[in-house]
Amino acid sequence: MIRLIHWSRSRWELLNLRQKLSVAFVVMTLVPLLVSAAFTEWEASKLLRQFVFDRNKNLALNIAHDADQLFAEKIRMMKVVVADASFRSMQSSHQTVILEEMVRTYSGIHIAVVIDPSGKQTARSDGLPVVDSIDYTDREYFAQVMQKKSTVVSEVLVSKSAGWPGVVIAEPILDENLTAQGVLVVNIGLSSIIQMIEKALVDEQSYAYVVNSAGNVIIHTDPLHARPEDSLCLSPTGKALAGETGWLEYECSGPKILAGYSYMPHAGWGLVVESSLAAAMSEVNDVHKANSFIIVVSVLLTVLISLSIAQAIAARIGEISKAALRVATGDFQTRLPVDRTDEIGSLAQNFNQMTEQLELRTVELCASETKFRSLVDNINIGVYQASVDDDGRFIQVNPAMVQIFGYPDLVLLLKVPISQLYYDLADRQFFLQQLKQKGFVKNQECLMRRFGGETFWCSRSAVARMDKMGNMQWIEGVIEDITERKQAENLLRQAKEELELQVAARTSELTKLNEELHQLSLSDGLTGIGNRRSLDETIEREWKRAVRERSKLAILMIDIDYFKLFNDTYGHLAGDECLKKVVATITGLIKRSMDFVGRYGGEEFAVILPATDEQGAMAVGEKIRAAIEAAAIPHQRSYLGGIVTVSIGVAVLIPNSTTESVVLVEAADQALYTAKSSGRNRVVLAE
Ligand code: GH3
Ligand code: MG
Ligand code: MG
Repeated sequence: MIRLIHWSRSRWELLNLRQKLSVAFVVMTLVPLLVSAAFTEWEASKLLRQFVFDRNKNLALNIAHDADQLFAEKIRMMKVVVADASFRSMQSSHQTVILEEMVRTYSGIHIAVVIDPSGKQTARSDGLPVVDSIDYTDREYFAQVMQKKSTVVSEVLVSKSAGWPGVVIAEPILDENLTAQGVLVVNIGLSSIIQMIEKALVDEQSYAYVVNSAGNVIIHTDPLHARPEDSLCLSPTGKALAGETGWLEYECSGPKILAGYSYMPHAGWGLVVESSLAAAMSEVNDVHKANSFIIVVSVLLTVLISLSIAQAIAARIGEISKAALRVATGDFQTRLPVDRTDEIGSLAQNFNQMTEQLELRTVELCASETKFRSLVDNINIGVYQASVDDDGRFIQVNPAMVQIFGYPDLVLLLKVPISQLYYDLADRQFFLQQLKQKGFVKNQECLMRRFGGETFWCSRSAVARMDKMGNMQWIEGVIEDITERKQAENLLRQAKEELELQVAARTSELTKLNEELHQLSLSDGLTGIGNRRSLDETIEREWKRAVRERSKLAILMIDIDYFKLFNDTYGHLAGDECLKKVVATITGLIKRSMDFVGRYGGEEFAVILPATDEQGAMAVGEKIRAAIEAAAIPHQRSYLGGIVTVSIGVAVLIPNSTTESVVLVEAADQALYTAKSSGRNRVVLAE
């Protein structure tokens, strides 16, 4: 089925529009027609079948009734006759008269006979003398009627005298005591029944048959359809003999049969009227023929009409198709005539609008392309399109490319493998790899070769054009010669490096100078030791440290004795020299790195001794005093042996955060004052 659908679809695709439209029209007409015809025929056959059933049933009922009446009327008449007492007692000659009257009155009676109980004829209707030689006791019906003492209808018998087939009705002649006094016998020829049935069967296709109580066919109107096996089939005879009236369809080793059946109660026979289904349905054939004729005529008409419509549509579509082809080949001035108001006309109108738009766009596109082309041709950046094979070739380049690579002409540049233009092949591989991975490359710098081998720096940017599968088809890119920029960059870099070196040298010098300046700002110009500022900072710093470390801090305040007189005696310059000597003596004694010597002011000096107790501080003070005395700098106006001496005040304490460093300095000052006032050239410890 699926294969058939595929086949039909592939065949359908091969048809052109005209053929498709024709096929569609034919199918659309044929299908409803066929369905309607089939339905009509089916409905007609159903109705016809029911009609035949009803007809056969009614025929069977009517014929059976009429045929049975032949028996009924005779039986009634015979009962009337035998019921008459005078008939029983009558002479044979009188009985003969009555019998003759009976035969005259009722058609179909062949002969009527009266038989006595011994089986001898006593009277007969045909006027002939009774035949003594005939003995009725060997007749089955005679024995039955004598025994049953009621009406008996015999089997079909062939008359011994006339040779006709017939049936005998036997009626017992009973006296008051119900004793059989004889039997009244009437012989009826079957021919009269057959004639009646044949007359009733108006339809040529139907036939009828009669079965006796044993189920044997005793009358058949159509010997061709007589079937001895009828009684063996599930035929209607059984139902008829069961006393039923009706219809049924059956099959009995032959075609299907539509049968109507009924019962003849007086004869005890069944009657069946039948038609073969095929014969009955022959009338439907006429409907079928009429339908076929209508279908053929409709199909022919449809084909003609559909062909003309399809021709009209296909011809116009063909025109549109040709016009579209002209547009496709670049003729944008193609227009279709708009001479209809239907869909085709509307299509033509839309087509014309489309081509107008296309023409307009093409003009715009041309102008834009010209602009773009001019830009690309005049720009001093190389623009190219290149293949992506291993070596690579340029497909298109602008004039700037030829100029940048220094080629004599464009054709030569298009022929050269791009890989040969690289200074380092690894650059090209990296470039292709980036394009594959990201699809683009932006402002990559690399070294390339010009025609003749000279290398130059360039900056390249490119995009990869991919197909639907993601494979690179070609590359579009730009190349810029950045040699000059590179040179400028190099110069700039060199200048920058030089500048950096100079700045570094200057900075180092400056640092050194700064250092010196710092030292200067902290040292005393004459003696080179720490000045007052430096001294104050040191006292402050050591004070804080001693607070932190809870250690002792000692300070020595040293003042030269009678120095004013020295100046007055030897002059100011000599005084300066004296100051230098005193300082050199003091600094020569101070060895610990943490100790500090500073000029407090004028000819007064201070020594700071961190982590030093009273004893240590006094010892240092004494050492200084003694050393200066030992230096024996002449001072003729001194009252202390004609040499330069010093007085020293010593103060030692453990600082705490609530006191300030000035306390220590004041204490040392106080001790110095004490040293002065108590004779000079001595060391006094503050209390
Ligand atoms: P005393 O024993 O009481 O200390 O007596 P003194 O003369 O030293 O008295 P005072 O300390 O008052 O005098 C200090 C003198 O030191 C005054 C000044 O002329 C001198 N002097 C101060 N600074 C300098 C200096 O830098 N160079 C020189 N040559 N003399 C200075
Ligand atoms: Mg002084
Ligand atoms: Mg002094």
